Amino acid sequence: MAWVLPLCAVGVASPSWAQSDYDSRFISYPTYGGNDLEMTVDKEGTHFRLWSPKAEEVVVNLYDNGHTGSPFSTLPMKFDAANGTWTASVAKPLYGKFYTFRVKQDGKWLNETPGVWAKAVGVNGKRAAIIDLNSTDPEGWNNDKGPEVKNFSDVIVYEMHHRDLSMHPSSGIANKGKFLALTEEGTVSTAGEKTGIDHLKELGITHVHILPSYDYNSVDEANLWQNTYNWGYDPQNYNAPEGSYSTNPSNPAVRVKEMKEMIKALHDAGIGVIMDVVYNHTAENEGSNFELTAPGYYHRHRNDGSWSDASGCGNETASDRKQMHDYIVNSVKYWADEYHIDGFRFDLMAIHDTETMNDVAAELKKINPSIFVYGEGWTAGDSPLAPERRALKENVSKMKDIAVFSDDLRDAVKGHYTDASDRGFATGKPGLEETVKIGIVAATPHPQVDFKKGNNSKFPYAASPEMIVNYVSCHDDLCLTDKLRKSMAGEPEENMLAAAKLAQTIVFTSQGTPFMFAGEEVFRDKKGVHNSYNQPDSINAIDWNNKTKYRDLFNYYQGLTALRKAHPAFRMTTAEDIARNLVFDKIDSKKTPNLISYSLKNHANGDEWKEIKVILNGASTPQDVKVKGGKWKIVASDGKISPDGSLGTSEGGTLTVPAYSALILAQE
Ligand code: CA
Repeated sequence: MAWVLPLCAVGVASPSWAQSDYDSRFISYPTYGGNDLEMTVDKEGTHFRLWSPKAEEVVVNLYDNGHTGSPFSTLPMKFDAANGTWTASVAKPLYGKFYTFRVKQDGKWLNETPGVWAKAVGVNGKRAAIIDLNSTDPEGWNNDKGPEVKNFSDVIVYEMHHRDLSMHPSSGIANKGKFLALTEEGTVSTAGEKTGIDHLKELGITHVHILPSYDYNSVDEANLWQNTYNWGYDPQNYNAPEGSYSTNPSNPAVRVKEMKEMIKALHDAGIGVIMDVVYNHTAENEGSNFELTAPGYYHRHRNDGSWSDASGCGNETASDRKQMHDYIVNSVKYWADEYHIDGFRFDLMAIHDTETMNDVAAELKKINPSIFVYGEGWTAGDSPLAPERRALKENVSKMKDIAVFSDDLRDAVKGHYTDASDRGFATGKPGLEETVKIGIVAATPHPQVDFKKGNNSKFPYAASPEMIVNYVSCHDDLCLTDKLRKSMAGEPEENMLAAAKLAQTIVFTSQGTPFMFAGEEVFRDKKGVHNSYNQPDSINAIDWNNKTKYRDLFNYYQGLTALRKAHPAFRMTTAEDIARNLVFDKIDSKKTPNLISYSLKNHANGDEWKEIKVILNGASTPQDVKVKGGKWKIVASDGKISPDGSLGTSEGGTLTVPAYSALILAQE
């Protein structure tokens, strides 16, 4: 998420949304729903149309250059009061030129802005560029398509930052830190292990989730030699790619073309691309493009006129206002159409209203039914938007085709994110069994799960497993390796590796969609830094020598993706199926804590296996479980996994599960 520790507490108490005088001013604003906002080129020429209903004057400046020099022309724009837009035209295509708008309001000329709809920009995104988008399409782009997704529970998400994946000297990748890194085939680590896109194929994930890749503010694109790192949760231009991930940020077409080449390479490998989107706040307040085009409108304010800050980053946007609602919907549609993006991860989604999120999903479905939308179902601070309207995880059942992260599972499995030393179910802390079960059933109603005993949400908030994304770690907070090192300090590393396997086994065998943080399959760390958003590559880059050192862990992760893909029982699609087919064994967690055992029965979801037994032992000591007699195949045991169940056989009876490990059995 952001520059501050995310507050995962939900439903922060707030006064109900009272339309103050301040806010009701915006209700009377005319809105514009056309698809020609800001700049279009056709055979008549180049046309400009800026939405700025309360401006007194607006001009558009035309430039030869993306960042220096004076305008070669400044055109006055004409107001259309009916829809609040200002227009001007030039009777020829201005390809290769740049433009900015300038708005005069309340007697004052505001700073120049590329507008909010720039689809290409000069270096550092200060001027919008006029390019022919067709010229940026890679060969074969018209036939490019991401993987077809029948159910969202079939998706396996791999969350990555461009620099994390390729910057380390051991990556063997030429285009380090660039979009093009993922177009390189045949790259290997110093020790000869596959890296880059070949590594992703070998691991078996279905989708990469790229951290913010729109144009963000913090990295100086004119001085890339500085190798500045940032997660990118500081949006500047929402509809153009970030320049520092391109090989030439000064040429506006290059970043567009190279991002498309990356997407095409991943699609050719059968991998979908999900983009992290941060419409909930802007990098700057007064200096944001929203504020420089329509002052006051796009952000929420408190009754005293100050900036409301549910993002914890200084401001929050106002999806509950029509033009902002349309902006979000049209922006994701643009990325889906122009870039063939396969999914969107909404940062601090609860800052948006449920109606906007429903429209996002519905409109995207029309473009491509395989598009997967999920988000953080919380805010990082209070908002004037009423809690019942927020796209909170507790409100996920009010939304259609939207999923939320389960912080229930995350914090219960590995320990709370605010306390580095806190342990979780998988590392020997008792009392978290019920919360883990909430994760296992994807927060859907289940007769054997007592939601009131859960640590986070106290009721079954998901109506379907397709509403839940399960994970133990992401870019935020300590990564799994660092969390295990801090909370298991003093124990041998083999225990931490065992706990890592157990934690991800829980994620990958639970109902819902599994999500993992890039590099955890090779025990990547962030050198103990939790909020690494602006830390150098030496903290954030994945050391690919780890793939050799922790090959056994990588093999296990590979087994988890293969098991999940081969067995639909782990990917049920309805709450009813889960309630019927997923049966917990009775275990007294007071007597034997950190032990969960359940079966997936009845060839669940069309599985070839009649029954799958999943036994999770998060205790620091071996524990015995009773398994009914019969012929069982051993699928996972003591840190080994075999997706076809060829680790051996068992007759059931009393079985011993080693410390920090999962035992998975199957019956034909
Ligand atoms: Ca930028």
